[in-house]
Amino acid sequence: MSEQATISRAEAARRLREKRKAEGLCPICGLPVDSSERIVCSECTERISEQGRLRRMQRREKGLCLRCGGVVEDADRVNCRRCRSAYNTQMKAWFANKKKIKEISTI
Ligand SMILES: [Zn+2]
Ligand SMILES: [Zn+2]
Repeated sequence: MSEQATISRAEAARRLREKRKAEGLCPICGLPVDSSERIVCSECTERISEQGRLRRMQRREKGLCLRCGGVVEDADRVNCRRCRSAYNTQMKAWFANKKKIKEISTI
């Protein structure tokens, strides 16, 4: 309600985004970024672009994978198995990398 509270909330959000960026995480969703040339992950890049939003909407309507537009094998999922396993690999690589950084920094 007070101005002070508004500022600190915005500041907290800004700090969180900075922290995520520094760790190689997407500042929007906080998940590992899948390309070294990007700051925002491909999912969020698509989500925030008008064209990407339209494409996702169409895929959702057709029950296709939101990531690649392929067939989703499991009815309760929004991504196909191929994309999910690719994502798992990406997550594992990120965590392995993070651990490595931590080990180096603690020496
Ligand atoms: Zn993201
Ligand atoms: Zn897919």
